[in-house]
Amino acid sequence: MDLNKIKEKTILASPALQEYILNTSAYPNEHEQMKEIRDATVVKYKHMSIMNASADEAQFLSILLKLMNAKNTLEIGVFTGYSLLATALALPEDGKVLAVDPDREAYEVGLPAIKKAGVEHKIDFVEGTATPFLDDLINEGKEGTFDFAFVDADKENYIKYHEPLLKLVKVGGLIAFDNTLWFGSVAYDEDDEIFKNDPIMKVVKHGLEPIKKLNSFLAKDPRIESSLLSIGDGLTLCRRKY
Ligand code: SAH
Ligand code: CA
Repeated sequence: MDLNKIKEKTILASPALQEYILNTSAYPNEHEQMKEIRDATVVKYKHMSIMNASADEAQFLSILLKLMNAKNTLEIGVFTGYSLLATALALPEDGKVLAVDPDREAYEVGLPAIKKAGVEHKIDFVEGTATPFLDDLINEGKEGTFDFAFVDADKENYIKYHEPLLKLVKVGGLIAFDNTLWFGSVAYDEDDEIFKNDPIMKVVKHGLEPIKKLNSFLAKDPRIESSLLSIGDGLTLCRRKY
């Protein structure tokens, strides 16, 4: 199966429009080392490089972090570090992003570019999985100390990360869940025709229910104010109210 086809399954009605956004707005302003990570990821991971956030989404995150004056942030799911570098570049000199991923090898693909960009000192990379990582932070008394958390790991467990993250981000802080439109598939029911004939959509179907459950849950959670943005593959911003 050619997973590269997934790339064409932009959530925008027109793939040409996504190309337009990237070529006209995002790529001309992309940081040199961000592009280096994107390129190194394609070389090593081929079609799986679609796991990196898109350039337009990374630029949105950068502006958001700066507007928030974010200083301490979390990242769950690093891969080769594209969103991580965007975050580190957006943080102030004394800012820190604490990131977790079991895949150190992938992180090391982006590490030379991160070093070259001069922001490695703002990153703490933890090799591990999200649940023990978040539990440890709570046990260490880090509740209410983070301005922002970017969640971009195993989609089926997003909903489990929500509770500890709500404790870890401060009141007024933000949790951002990535890929919440799931290649546009959330608009359909599991038994819809579109999942039957297309081999790619059969794969996409796998992650559909957990994401839909999360979206419905977040929409009803009174502790947050949320906004589901149609950027990248969908990004849900959740602001902690109390
Ligand atoms: N944020 C990255 C892309 C992350 S891809 C970017 O935009 O460039 C998803 C990553 O989640 C993978 O690297 C995978 O190893 C990681 N992952 C999967 N399960 C995880 C878990 N339980 N805890 C933390 N990371 C996990
Ligand atoms: Ca993602």
